[in-house]
Amino acid sequence: MRRLVVVGAGMAGLAAAARARELGADVVVHEKGPHPGGSMLLSSGFVWRYRDWETFRAECPGGDPSLQRVVWEGLEDALAWLESLGAPVVARQTGNPRTAGVRFDPRGLTQVLAPRAGEIRLGDPLAAVPQGVPTVLATGGFQGGRELVRRHVTPEADALVLRANPWSTGDGLSLALASGAAFSGGLNEFYGRNLAAAPRIGSEDFVPLAQVYARHALVENVRGERFEARHWADVDVVQWTARQPGARAWYVVPDEALGEPVRERTVGELVETARRAGAPVQRMDGATRVEVVAGITSTLGGIRVDERARAADGLWAAGADVGGISTGGWSSALAAALVLGRIAAEDAVGG
Ligand SMILES: Cc1cc2nc3c(=O)[nH]c(=O)nc-3n(C[C@H](O)[C@H](O)[C@H](O)COP(=O)(O)OP(=O)(O)OC[C@H]3O[C@@H](n4cnc5c(N)ncnc54)[C@H](O)[C@@H]3O)c2cc1C
Repeated sequence: MRRLVVVGAGMAGLAAAARARELGADVVVHEKGPHPGGSMLLSSGFVWRYRDWETFRAECPGGDPSLQRVVWEGLEDALAWLESLGAPVVARQTGNPRTAGVRFDPRGLTQVLAPRAGEIRLGDPLAAVPQGVPTVLATGGFQGGRELVRRHVTPEADALVLRANPWSTGDGLSLALASGAAFSGGLNEFYGRNLAAAPRIGSEDFVPLAQVYARHALVENVRGERFEARHWADVDVVQWTARQPGARAWYVVPDEALGEPVRERTVGELVETARRAGAPVQRMDGATRVEVVAGITSTLGGIRVDERARAADGLWAAGADVGGISTGGWSSALAAALVLGRIAAEDAVGG
């Protein structure tokens, strides 16, 4: 029987392990944290792709087109597979006209995938890639590794809020590089959200405190230098904010923008949530100023892989450990993790 070691029990690792076991492999999953799920468990559960290929390329122009194609073309089958396992669907649309996908309940996703992943060794990070056993790295990126973030993303690494699980500190990247893998492009890019600068931000605040209305506001740093936010997912403004003093910025929201809808809430409701959480919110003549801090969710650069998720001899990678898919923009990390996790398993066990 083929053996497989999987490192990380989030979306990519659980999908890889479950798929490998379906194909008859004997799988051991190492998980650094005390429970499976990773950042998937904290997520909003939207697994999506751009409606058409040209939009994906235009939205993420720096990404590797062949890898993007694999994710884009593979998502439909991968979603059908997840549903066939009983993953609980919350909605069959994303609420965003550019994208199509499915929203899952993240807890239910974990509960469906974890029992199918075989033996999960909790609190047991992999220290070195085992010789002669195919291994899939799925440790979830390096946003939790302060020194790596400082080196590759921003000198303000200490001031960032980690808007993700605390265990994804770049172990997959280090293990891959030690095994002869290469860096992808876009190492300085990340996905995240600007959060209301409340005195205390816990994981339960990651979604409610996100201030996702930069396009309706004037954005400036503490020195009064301005940034014009353009990206629909605020990826540009959170990356800019991360590089400003204290990784902070102010959103100046004109009164007439307070009624603008943002998903199921309004700009005014988001500002009110910020105020109630104790973030600096100031009234000015005809506007409200809200202080935000950059929250880093998922690094977008990392390990370079090919279309079969191969990183080096005997070594595969999937999920946020893999870079070069969303470069220049943002595409669903859960989708890439699901598709490449399955592909890694199939290639590694010869399915
Ligand atoms: C609040 C929030 C909302 C989000 N919403 C969405 C969304 O709606 N749609 C979307 O596409 N993305 C979303 N994301 C991002 C998405 O959740 C992550 O990018 C995704 O989970 C990445 O999958 P992964 O398998 O690579 O990593 P994870 O799911 O984080 O799993 C990685 C696992 O590896 C483990 N690990 C780390 N190091 C080691 C080691 N050395 N040995 C063993 N295990 C290790 C970690 O503990 C973790 O369990 C959101 C994230 C957050 C925090």
